[in-house]
Amino acid sequence: MSWDFSTDPGFAGHLNWAHELMIEEVEPLETLDVPRHELNRAIKPLQQQVKDRGLWAAHLDPELGGQGFGQVKLGLLNEQVGRSRLGPWVFGNQAPDAGNAEILALNGSLEQKRRYLEPMLAGTLRSAFAMTEFDVAGTDPTLLQLCATRDGNDWVLEGEKWFITRAEDADFFLVMVVTDPQAEPHRRASIVIVDKTQSGFEIVRNIGSMHDPSPGPTSFETHSVIRFTGCRLPAESVLGQAGDGFVIAQQRLGPGRIHHCMRWVAQAERALEMLCERATYRYSHGRLLADHQTIQNYIADSAAEIHGLRLMTLHAAWRIDHEGTRASRREIAMIKYHGAKVLLDVIDRSIQAHGSLGYSSDMPLEEMYRWGRAARIYDGPDEIHRTVAARLTLKDYRPPPDGVPSEFMPNRRDKAARRFAELLDMVST
Ligand SMILES: Cc1cc2nc3c(=O)[nH]c(=O)nc-3n(C[C@H](O)[C@H](O)[C@H](O)COP(=O)(O)OP(=O)(O)OC[C@H]3O[C@@H](n4cnc5c(N)ncnc54)[C@H](O)[C@@H]3O)c2cc1C
Repeated sequence: MSWDFSTDPGFAGHLNWAHELMIEEVEPLETLDVPRHELNRAIKPLQQQVKDRGLWAAHLDPELGGQGFGQVKLGLLNEQVGRSRLGPWVFGNQAPDAGNAEILALNGSLEQKRRYLEPMLAGTLRSAFAMTEFDVAGTDPTLLQLCATRDGNDWVLEGEKWFITRAEDADFFLVMVVTDPQAEPHRRASIVIVDKTQSGFEIVRNIGSMHDPSPGPTSFETHSVIRFTGCRLPAESVLGQAGDGFVIAQQRLGPGRIHHCMRWVAQAERALEMLCERATYRYSHGRLLADHQTIQNYIADSAAEIHGLRLMTLHAAWRIDHEGTRASRREIAMIKYHGAKVLLDVIDRSIQAHGSLGYSSDMPLEEMYRWGRAARIYDGPDEIHRTVAARLTLKDYRPPPDGVPSEFMPNRRDKAARRFAELLDMVST
């Protein structure tokens, strides 16, 4: 069995380069309060640097311009990219474009790839993914209601979707719609592609959120209610086959969670850096914070939790690389809920050690915390991933044949006494 924690030296060069770019060029941009299109302009030259380095949209397969790095290397790269919410934008792997490109590549027709995927990879078109509806639980997509009904050769969409990230910036939408209400629950839905300019489509409003209570032109990312009113699409708007909606949606999720979790590692590491720096200069009750035991505990616990999450996530990535996404479902589920908890706990301790400064917007921590809170909800809430992890853990267990725990000491003692009777005889004589 090989067990190696070293990073391939060639790739380590890429990581050092990405680290430098994030700290020197990307993090300063976070502080600017400018409209999104201006920020886009400032980011363009950085995107070019990433392209020149061969790291643009690195999550894609080589035939689409990626490098075929595999999930461990992609995870390590995302640990750098995730230091700033602008990082994924600069490196061409921001959600939802990253996942949408993958499912278009896997399921799109030649025409869909030409019209949507190629310009998206070139950075000239943007996309959104629309599944959640206000009236039904997003955790159970079999309840979805927005229907596409067949009319001649067309599909006609009627209804609304809720909390659609980047709808404002998107040029087209991948929309999960019910195309066959009578089919068995997991075959009822399909994904259709809708252009933003399509008649019958509108953005109703942007939703205020914990991260951004009053969305406006300088909002980094908006979430919208979108509406379809008699929105008519040609039959060839379906991605893959009608009824494949859930199967296709699943394809977006496995490797994407590795990337999310490594970005959370990066955010938590950044919060710990702030906590440690604070501990070295803030003086209270006769000593530095670094010399107060509770603060030492904050630092020690945070360092250990981040290290644990990092290893868990890289192990999940390694398993995907060696055994595939399906075999790694338990690991992928565990990093999702555990990662979100580590992220929030570490940022919270750093806020606490900064006192009023930590609570204020003069430090990035409060924003990191509000942004991070969504990690427990999007891509499936904690509860769902815990259920998966518990189910997959339990599958190797059966009730003991006699209904008595296998570790029940009296039974074990009797069994051992019979097995080691000779030894016991020798001891007692
Ligand atoms: C920042 C952010 C961005 C998002 N972007 C998008 C997007 O681009 N496109 C899109 O379609 N959607 C998006 N969403 C929506 C997201 O996918 C849903 O919020 C998520 O799937 C949960 O669905 P829900 O909000 O309807 O919650 P519900 O399904 O109503 O669940 C609410 C709560 O009920 C509990 N619960 C539910 N089921 C169970 C269970 N089986 N066991 C135990 N407890 C349970 C959990 O506590 C859960 O958090 C986004 C959400 C956020 C926060």
